[in-house]
Amino acid sequence: MESKAHGFSTLAIHAGQDADPATGATVVPIYATSTYTQEAPGKHKGYEYSRSGNPTRAALETCLAAIEGGEAGAAFASGLAATACVLTTHLRPGDEIVAAADLYGGTYRILERVFKPWGLVPHYTDEISPAGFAGLIGPRTKMVWLETPTNPLLQILDIAAIAELAHKVKSLLVVDNTFASPYLQQPLRLGADFVIHSTTKYLGGHSDVVGGACVGRRELMQPIYFHQNASGGVPGPFDAFLTLRGIKTLAVRMERHCANARQLADWLLRQSFIEKVYYPGLPQHPGHDLARRQMRDFGGMISVRVRGGKEAALRMITRTKLFSLAESLGGVESLISHPATMTHASIPPEVRVKRGVDDSLVRLSVGIEDVNDLQADLTAALA
Ligand code: PLP
Repeated sequence: MESKAHGFSTLAIHAGQDADPATGATVVPIYATSTYTQEAPGKHKGYEYSRSGNPTRAALETCLAAIEGGEAGAAFASGLAATACVLTTHLRPGDEIVAAADLYGGTYRILERVFKPWGLVPHYTDEISPAGFAGLIGPRTKMVWLETPTNPLLQILDIAAIAELAHKVKSLLVVDNTFASPYLQQPLRLGADFVIHSTTKYLGGHSDVVGGACVGRRELMQPIYFHQNASGGVPGPFDAFLTLRGIKTLAVRMERHCANARQLADWLLRQSFIEKVYYPGLPQHPGHDLARRQMRDFGGMISVRVRGGKEAALRMITRTKLFSLAESLGGVESLISHPATMTHASIPPEVRVKRGVDDSLVRLSVGIEDVNDLQADLTAALA
């Protein structure tokens, strides 16, 4: 998984982060400046204006590319700003996009309510096997969009097989790697053309910054940089600094997220009030073997179906003390949420329920606290 030269954590801590050339500062400084003094018009040290480029953001972009195994990275003000930039840069009205039906609600909303009126034709498949995608991919398909694991049902999709299908019709494959993080999965090495992230989640890792990223091959990233500057959805230097700081500890955090989630998933499986546990680390999960092949470990996200429907689910999520009732995921602290009324509320109820995101579904973002405390918190909430 690692680059030829260095291991994952070495890249996370050092890529793009040499000592500051101006001062020798060991940690990349927050360059809080919107503009840069020029010696003569056009004669400058590589920076002119901070929408076009900023040294703190440049360090983050280099680091993002390194940890995803890509050639170039671009940082954005949010995950959805990254999504919007990839779609507007590489698609034109009339183009078709194919995605799995289990998709982050905001991605579904931007496809349906921003890009469909613009002329994009989205298709969604409930059948997540490569055959399901093959049935929808055609000559007008210009992009295939995957999340794996998916949000919130934690389905596992075969990146390499779907990349092959996409490339047969000269379509681009974009993988939203937010749930896995580059420590657990590197889609570019499996054939994806772009990886996008909500860096708000595991990369930032501390629930204190909103951000996004896109990484890919240099030639595909050039027009992304043009759009990033032209449309301007860039992060400020403080946000870039926080994200870069988070990335340094990504590997150690992910190991703890995974270990905690595995223990809780095993335990939840044995609880009578839980009807079903969705966690790719469980051997009975339909994507378990595939996850074993394309991921280093199974991640920190678990979804459960609670016996007793909406009432029971709402009782559970409002009673926990350590698990905060909150949207988002991937921070050091554990969060609990109700996708139907929170993260996926923008999907029409009939579509949502058909896709399995009904009122009894509860999503857990397992943090890195002491796992026995987390288990006790869930036990008390469900007592
Ligand atoms: N992709 C996934 C899988 C997400 O969960 C989210 C947000 O929850 C996004 C993209 C959007 O990211 P942001 O909220 O940073 O715009």
